[in-house]
Amino acid sequence: MANSEDGSGSKNKPATNAVHLGRAPFEQHGFVNTPVYRGSTVLYPTLAKLRSREQSFTYGRRATPTTRALEDALCGLEGGHSAILTSSGLNAVSTALLAFVQAGDHILVVDTVYQPTRVFCDKMLARLGVETTYYDPAIGAAISSLIRPNTRLVFVESPGSQTFEMQDIPAIAAVARAKNIWVIADNTWASPLYCQPLALGADVSIQAATKYVVGHADAMLGVVIASPRAARYLDNAKEALGTCPGSEETFLALRGLRTLDVRLARHMSSSIAIAAWLESRAEVQRVVHPALKSHPGHDIWLRDFSGASGLFAVVLKPTSEPALAAFLDGLKLFGMGYSWGGYESLVIPFDPSSYRTATVWSAEGPALRFHIGLEAVDDLRADLTAGFTRMATAV
Ligand SMILES: *Cc1c(COP(=O)(O)O)cnc(C)c1O
Repeated sequence: MANSEDGSGSKNKPATNAVHLGRAPFEQHGFVNTPVYRGSTVLYPTLAKLRSREQSFTYGRRATPTTRALEDALCGLEGGHSAILTSSGLNAVSTALLAFVQAGDHILVVDTVYQPTRVFCDKMLARLGVETTYYDPAIGAAISSLIRPNTRLVFVESPGSQTFEMQDIPAIAAVARAKNIWVIADNTWASPLYCQPLALGADVSIQAATKYVVGHADAMLGVVIASPRAARYLDNAKEALGTCPGSEETFLALRGLRTLDVRLARHMSSSIAIAAWLESRAEVQRVVHPALKSHPGHDIWLRDFSGASGLFAVVLKPTSEPALAAFLDGLKLFGMGYSWGGYESLVIPFDPSSYRTATVWSAEGPALRFHIGLEAVDDLRADLTAGFTRMATAV
């Protein structure tokens, strides 16, 4: 468990904190980075020390200097009280939910939530006697109409997975706080640098560190950051569930974190450039990117976020499957695959209409999710232009 001293990391700006938090070179012989500590057993020098419960590290599953360094850094960046690391982003979601619910509870989850989160609620929490109601991401303060006497928490994710609807987190959090209900936010899209859900009123913030924190598509990792009043619940869940990240993965996330600010700035500027260009293309019906003026939640994004990541959606005009395949299959720089947040550009088709229950997703043509990586924008545009040409000539 990490504990930041002043609850905000430090008075420095986020870019500086991303570089400096969670580092103690002179505890590592002066080496700049905390090395990978691999270990289960931690020895106690004396019986008195063992009995005192004062030793910083007691068992590998609980913490190592490597995991604590990352917990401290991410906790400070999100303005939390403490943080726990998990083996994946989805494991962060499930651990955070299990920390707060009990049989007989009701929870409110945004309809546009990351789809595997939905599977956890519908398959696992339902079996444990916890009922989930999905709500429209545009609900805002009207969330009060869905709150029952047994409602335990509200789960928000802004923007929504795949379809990027913005949520009014402060309005939802104000209602929840008045009714003594927890608010858990999946903050993966913005990363810890571009949104701090705890400052917006949430009690818990989740990151799939797999995405931007790791940043190189080479590790799976999650983190849950807690406010002071939520910290005890997460500590207990971590202890009871045995939640524990891999040491190598933790090191890779620490390494990724140090360059997060410059990477994100590039992801943001390139994604806005490509999104704006796609908006002008005849093949495109609409572009869904919170940083574009055309986005219905643009004002919320301006108010609550300090930047945008490289992930957004595009709805094409109706086209045939072979034409779509001609577009996607020939791309040279955009890879086709799940996950995102690495240095490389990605594209994936999506259609959430079969699993959403509180909203209706309708797309005029095929929908594509783009992740804009760190390549030169001109090269990405040329790759997509060639794709549109192939699409036009396919049958
Ligand atoms: C990817 C993702 C997750 C899950 O992260 P994994 O590390 O892949 O388990 C959770 N939430 C959101 C919003 C994501 O995009």
